[in-house]
Amino acid sequence: MTARAQATGTEQMTRAIELYPGVVSSALMEQLRSYRSEHGRALSVYVDIDSQRWGNAEAARIAAKNTLLEVRRQIEQLADLTGPQRQQLLIDVERAHAVAEATAGRRRTRSLAIFADYSNRYGLAIPLPWPVRPRWFVGNGFATWPLEQLLHLSEKYCICLTDKDDARIFVFYMGAIEERTDVTDEIPGRIRYPDPFSELEYMRKHVEYFHKHFDHTAQALFELYQQEKFDHLIIGGLHEVLPQFEQHLHSYLRDKVIARWDVPVQSITPTEVLERTEVEERRIEEAHCERIWRQIEERGPGRSARGPEEVFRALWQHRVHALLVDPELKLTAGKCPSCLRTTLADRCPECGAGQLQEVDAVTEAVTLAIDTGSTVKYWERSATLAAVGHMASLNRF
Ligand SMILES: [Zn+2]
Repeated sequence: MTARAQATGTEQMTRAIELYPGVVSSALMEQLRSYRSEHGRALSVYVDIDSQRWGNAEAARIAAKNTLLEVRRQIEQLADLTGPQRQQLLIDVERAHAVAEATAGRRRTRSLAIFADYSNRYGLAIPLPWPVRPRWFVGNGFATWPLEQLLHLSEKYCICLTDKDDARIFVFYMGAIEERTDVTDEIPGRIRYPDPFSELEYMRKHVEYFHKHFDHTAQALFELYQQEKFDHLIIGGLHEVLPQFEQHLHSYLRDKVIARWDVPVQSITPTEVLERTEVEERRIEEAHCERIWRQIEERGPGRSARGPEEVFRALWQHRVHALLVDPELKLTAGKCPSCLRTTLADRCPECGAGQLQEVDAVTEAVTLAIDTGSTVKYWERSATLAAVGHMASLNRF
């Protein structure tokens, strides 16, 4: 075979990395955690494709390209790889580049967690609504810990729509929606009863059936909860039966109900469910932000920080419990190369070093908060937050 034919063959075999379309589930995380590359090396790479940070999709593509060029350069220099392993990893870097390029500018996507093992024809890219530090790892398995650090930042919603004999259950998480199970129970057909007694009997049976259906649905929801541990529950469907359905819910789940929708169970599309859920999510997130802000006010300056400079100091001291940040803020900060303090000043306020590295203030604050296990909330269009410099934190001590 000529070199050219070989190259064409390789191109044909190069399978694209799939952009994960669904909800990041505990089953998916388990699959990634337990993955072992049998023949080659597994590549995990975290790429920032935040159009908001970089200005537009094209600039985000360039940022991703630069990250992956650097990964490529370092893989070429890695010592403990066989020739075929290195070759395979370089193909995986190319595949990662292709998916990052295609995804930049996607709605609600600030970064990608990419897991690739070309030797095993494996490739998955998970879109994330949070910024990440560019990082990469090569090993027998995948490095999932940076992804796991992000998972608790977003809350998971379950949407259960039910009428008297049908139910549809959806899970919403990090901007993605997935229809999981549906519960269909046969209700006996409506037939004419000649006498009042049979009519009553029919009504009794009918009620019995739909209560049975509600029981099945409530049970399916509880099983789903045990797997997915969703934070909030939205119920919807035929408005007049919802209160009865709610009675069947496990008391623990009843407390998680945040909304009741009057919607047609069968004809509503997943996109409509997604849009409605996003409205509820904004409401819940807004309430979280307001609650954190109230705590900031109650605790006062000793236990909180207001404005980027105070927040950066608290982050550097690992004191931040919850960070509130305006995602629209455009601000460049400096990062000290020796003690890693981020500041708006020209020199590091901790060690006096000059020559600070330029960083994006929002991305830096958010990733530092994630690294130190803080809660992070984007508080959009808040006059309260704008008044203190678009950033504030509730501190642990
Ligand atoms: Zn310093």
